Amino acid sequence: MKIENLCVKRLVGDVSGATTHGHKIAIKGGYVYQTYQGGYTLTPLGWRVIHNIENIIRNEMNAIDGQELLLPVVCSANLWRETGRYDSMDNIAKFKGRSGADYVICPTHEEVITDYARSVLTSYRQLPFMLYQIQTKFRDELRVRAGLLRTREFIMKDAYSFHETQEDLDKYYKRCFDAYYRLFRRCGLKNFTDVLASSGDMGGKYTHEFQLIHEMGEDTLYICDCGFRANKEVVDENNTVCPQCGKALNKVRGIEIGQVFQLGRFYTESMHMTYTDANGNENTPIMGCYGIGVTRVMAAILEESSDDYGPVWNMETAPFAVHVIGLNGKDANVMTLAQQIHDTLIVNGIETILDNRDIRAGEKFADADLIAAPIRLIVSENNLTRNVIEVKYRINDFDTSDIPKEVAISDLVSFITGAIRILSHK
Ligand SMILES: [Zn+2]
Repeated sequence: MKIENLCVKRLVGDVSGATTHGHKIAIKGGYVYQTYQGGYTLTPLGWRVIHNIENIIRNEMNAIDGQELLLPVVCSANLWRETGRYDSMDNIAKFKGRSGADYVICPTHEEVITDYARSVLTSYRQLPFMLYQIQTKFRDELRVRAGLLRTREFIMKDAYSFHETQEDLDKYYKRCFDAYYRLFRRCGLKNFTDVLASSGDMGGKYTHEFQLIHEMGEDTLYICDCGFRANKEVVDENNTVCPQCGKALNKVRGIEIGQVFQLGRFYTESMHMTYTDANGNENTPIMGCYGIGVTRVMAAILEESSDDYGPVWNMETAPFAVHVIGLNGKDANVMTLAQQIHDTLIVNGIETILDNRDIRAGEKFADADLIAAPIRLIVSENNLTRNVIEVKYRINDFDTSDIPKEVAISDLVSFITGAIRILSHK
């Protein structure tokens, strides 16, 4: 792709209206565009990052036997009436169809998934199973913070597991817990942890949140050296002493990126989901639920790992792997070679963007910092006389000091393929 064809507006200088550093970078780089208060368009650039995050999540969910499906965004109010949440949840957007029927725009999908699962489940032999989807949610929040951290509309990965026994749920809960650690690390998040949390509207007995510890976070977390970690709903704010060891708790801020719940039988009982167990008796499965705010993960990466110039993605999340810059857009040899390199990399399946514009080098580098492909190839007259290409790296959480900073033109494809493999920790 040529940079001038990328339908994204990048901004120079200071950005107004951004509340956090990450939000500022997201707007400056043109990753998001605010369409309405609390609703963002993910631009062609932002969507590439989201798509990459989604694929990491898919990969890790499939690795713990998750089965992806897609539930409808809109649902009949009747399903929500079965559990009583049609009246008890305050942020559901409700509307009437022209026929007079009541609908909701789903803020979460426990009722909808339970309805599907009960249509399939008959025998204990089918258990356990986990179903997940990656989809847009809408929550009609009264107040939204400017920025990407609390929006009305967002993309969520929601997963739901069904089990015969509490022991089996405990085992699966732990597997999902470990998968969350792996996938957040793969997204490039560093200083995150799990904390005990309250289950709120979701029912069930206990829950953990995954939180990126960060000063811009809107959640208050209490952390102790002994390993105790909880959010403020769990810890009595007047009693900030560790319930485990009695020492004073450390108070930090966090950005919530995921949450896992043990839902018990609240949904399966109220919605009459049953199966026949090994002894021929009718039983109700026990349920777990596992969420990740996909758009929130991108926002969290931007808060934690961007500098004043732009984001710092890793190889798995970056919108492009390689950014080819032809310096001196008037030199035909430079431009032709830059174009050829771009075309060759594309043919080899490498996501590449080309900047052959006839503008100042400084502007090209500023744009490259905002797009932040981990590998930058610089084609210049000077390097051409030596038949080499200069290579620069911009990559999250990786020491590139041992990787060559120039490459012979004849070795380019094998070099780039190798570099991508190394930089992907593969
Ligand atoms: Zn403690």
